[in-house]
Amino acid sequence: MNLHEYQGKEILNSFGVEIQRGIVATTPKEAVEAAKKLTEQTGTGWHVIKAQVHAGGRGKGGGVKLAKNLQEVEDIAGKIIGMDLVTPQTSAEGKRVHQVLVAEDVYYPGDNEPEEYYMSVLLNRSTGRNMIMYSTEGGMDIETVAEETPHLIFTEEIDPAVGLLGFQARRVAFNLGLSGKAFKEMTKFVTALYKAYNESDSSLFEINPVLKTSDDRIIAVDAKVSIDDNALFRHKDYEEMRDKREENPVEVEAKEKGLNYVDLDGNVGCMVNGAGLAMATMDLIKQAGGEPANFLDVGGTADAERVEAAFKLILKDPSVKAILINIFGGIVRCDRVAQGVIDAYKNMGTIHVPIIVRLQGTNADIAKKLIDDSGLDVQSAIEFQEAADKVKEVLS
Ligand code: GDP
Ligand code: MN
Repeated sequence: MNLHEYQGKEILNSFGVEIQRGIVATTPKEAVEAAKKLTEQTGTGWHVIKAQVHAGGRGKGGGVKLAKNLQEVEDIAGKIIGMDLVTPQTSAEGKRVHQVLVAEDVYYPGDNEPEEYYMSVLLNRSTGRNMIMYSTEGGMDIETVAEETPHLIFTEEIDPAVGLLGFQARRVAFNLGLSGKAFKEMTKFVTALYKAYNESDSSLFEINPVLKTSDDRIIAVDAKVSIDDNALFRHKDYEEMRDKREENPVEVEAKEKGLNYVDLDGNVGCMVNGAGLAMATMDLIKQAGGEPANFLDVGGTADAERVEAAFKLILKDPSVKAILINIFGGIVRCDRVAQGVIDAYKNMGTIHVPIIVRLQGTNADIAKKLIDDSGLDVQSAIEFQEAADKVKEVLS
């Protein structure tokens, strides 16, 4: 589950990570009130108005702007709230902004120039360890840094059973070229950041930029936080942070129905039981010259109700030109699935795309007969290759 910047910062703050403070607003008036309050709390004169959408690169798209007085706060908030923000990470239509974060200006002048770093904490699946990735090149997108100056990206691997050790936190501060107060502040920052990542059961923290202020404080200016969905049951308070407006509506609906659905760009809808078989089916579709329109795992109980729900989800995608149902009858019997497909088809009236059903496993032959005799416009197959050939046929 992805969070908004302001929510990510709330979590960071609750673990003692220093953040750029801010207050969320949904109208220009609220933004002005927020700015006044922030000035009382922090003494800040200037404010930054930041669009809250689940996409990075907001600055480049005009979604992050500095306001030097309350009139500018109101004007800028008025422009950003309600806009469709286009960034390098959104589609061409952009993302509708429903709220802004009014934040204190932390790039104030002082003895030193403020400096931006990059820092993320994530799981390295190949080593089974957590990893802090960081760079002196903050503020720009890390993919560019990785391409142009890979030697400026450092990593620190952390054994999850042992946790982050003191010397590792110091090494981070050292590699970033810090000394004195900033060095100490950075080791504190890294230590708190790792603790926050670990205890919030996150799969990704990306703080870009981490800022060294002109008076050598270390502050999280941005926060991209992803919480591991499988751990959400342990964090009811985070679960409430879910913003469904930011998620794919079909995926949200699928989740509510207990279906495992991921929207993709192709033209062949697929309905499969089991994630492994779903992956293999997607390969099969590609080999047949199609592109999967979705990943859909209906799970162990492929009864009529679930099959119908899955059908409906797939048909919401206008680019679907064919549907391939590939079910292995292990626990569930193929004839029951076939009956489910037939019932769902009948319940839905007419379906205007060709359907190919491949049922393999217990009672596969009975299932094939059921479908062939149903009189519906559904083609059945028992072999994988046979199904692939039929997909090829209907696409050509
Ligand atoms: P992103 O573009 O979506 O990654 O949003 P960020 O939160 O990273 O902000 C983008 C940029 O806005 C930062 O890299 C900073 O250069 C700038 N910015 C953020 N906060 C402040 C601030 O308090 N003062 C000033 N002057 N600039 C800021
Ligand atoms: Mn950023």
